[in-house]
Amino acid sequence: MSKNALIIGSGAREHAIAWKLDQSPHVANAYVAPGNGCKFTVQEDDLHIVLQKTANAPTAIDLNDIEHVKEFIKAHNIDLVVIGPEQQICAGWEDELKSLTLVCAPSRMASFLEASKSYAKDFMIDNQLPTAEYSTFTEFNEAKKFIESVTWKGIVIKQDGLCGGKGVHLPKTKQEAIEKLQHVMKTTRDPIVIEEALVGYEISALGFTDGHTVRMMPFSQDHKRVFEGDRGENTGGMGAICPVIVPLEIEEQILEILQKTVDAMSNAGALYKGILYAGLMITSDGPKILEYNCRFGDPETEVILPLLETDLYEICEACCKGTLHEIDVKWSKKSVIGIVMAIQGYPGAFKKKIPIKNIPLDNEHTVIFHAGTQINEDKVLVNTSGRVLCVSSVGKSFYEAKQRAIAAISSIQFDEKHFRRDIGHFVFNLSNSLEYSKSGV
Ligand code: AMP
Repeated sequence: MSKNALIIGSGAREHAIAWKLDQSPHVANAYVAPGNGCKFTVQEDDLHIVLQKTANAPTAIDLNDIEHVKEFIKAHNIDLVVIGPEQQICAGWEDELKSLTLVCAPSRMASFLEASKSYAKDFMIDNQLPTAEYSTFTEFNEAKKFIESVTWKGIVIKQDGLCGGKGVHLPKTKQEAIEKLQHVMKTTRDPIVIEEALVGYEISALGFTDGHTVRMMPFSQDHKRVFEGDRGENTGGMGAICPVIVPLEIEEQILEILQKTVDAMSNAGALYKGILYAGLMITSDGPKILEYNCRFGDPETEVILPLLETDLYEICEACCKGTLHEIDVKWSKKSVIGIVMAIQGYPGAFKKKIPIKNIPLDNEHTVIFHAGTQINEDKVLVNTSGRVLCVSSVGKSFYEAKQRAIAAISSIQFDEKHFRRDIGHFVFNLSNSLEYSKSGV
């Protein structure tokens, strides 16, 4: 136990990464920063360093600031950094930190796959990777003419850069598409991707990679809408399930997509290492890529990592050192459901600083990952954002996992609590089918 790990970020995803790294016999300390109310968050006692910003005004270290992060890495002998959020990865934190320690994240250049939708679409076409038809525009009248001319069943409008999940629009009619386009093009000069709406079901396909070898994680599925029955606005995710079992042929096609992506990046001189996440639509013509993310997903991570049987520290180290081919990554055959506990009103206006009580202790089946929580001045756990906790439960079947998650949720108390009881409806509705009975549902 001699290694120290620092996980950058402040959500349930980062709590889950720290929780898993902490189980490694190699890891002495797993720190999360800036963190939240979870026990891995860097505490004042852990800081030990105070940067002298001006001669007489010492400032406590701000772990959102890369210079402060560098100081922390040196002061705490950090051996591994895992960067959770796309903002820091796409800003090039890997390039900046790699001379100090191992960094399990892609470089700024490799993260273009997420940072620019137009780059990602051109990359897919150049490398014969399956995706929706599209065209890219910077000029409104041309884009409008294009929308009027297409005969697709539906249109998707995508803003180019990072938009915190708010850059994709799915208008119902051409008229609505043109109005949306006009609005979007007024606010940005970045290219706009106009793409065919695909029909099918969505899954998240994540893999670990060292730039050459890819080790797939089990497929998972997020539930984006705020209300049961997939109604209401899109959110950062209201829950997820893992694994999602697909026919073998599709599984092989998905592995090929990830491997081809990594190989093409390497050939282009932008070696891709860390976590590669492809958001896929499984259509009647096979899997098609909706988007790439250059990091772990949230809430997918909270349902994937409970199934990981191999040491996460060793995997991350191998991703950084180019030795992933030496590691056989093993997964439990159990089922996981993660249910997000949010505050009523989210993703619109919601209350903050609501006290959260009665969080049960983690046990072998259920872990409560903190998302938007904080311990306030009075040492009370309160919410800081709309998604508060993610309750992840493992079971021999999804049914058992869900019962455990709901039992934990019932004991957790806070005002204006909101969660979806139908997380996993996709597998429950298919529970009589042969494929899903094989996975124990
Ligand atoms: P993206 O950020 O590109 O994954 O888009 C966010 C969400 O928009 C996806 O999870 C899908 O639900 C939806 N979406 C994006 N592209 C398409 C498409 N071509 N067809 C249908 N839905 C899409």
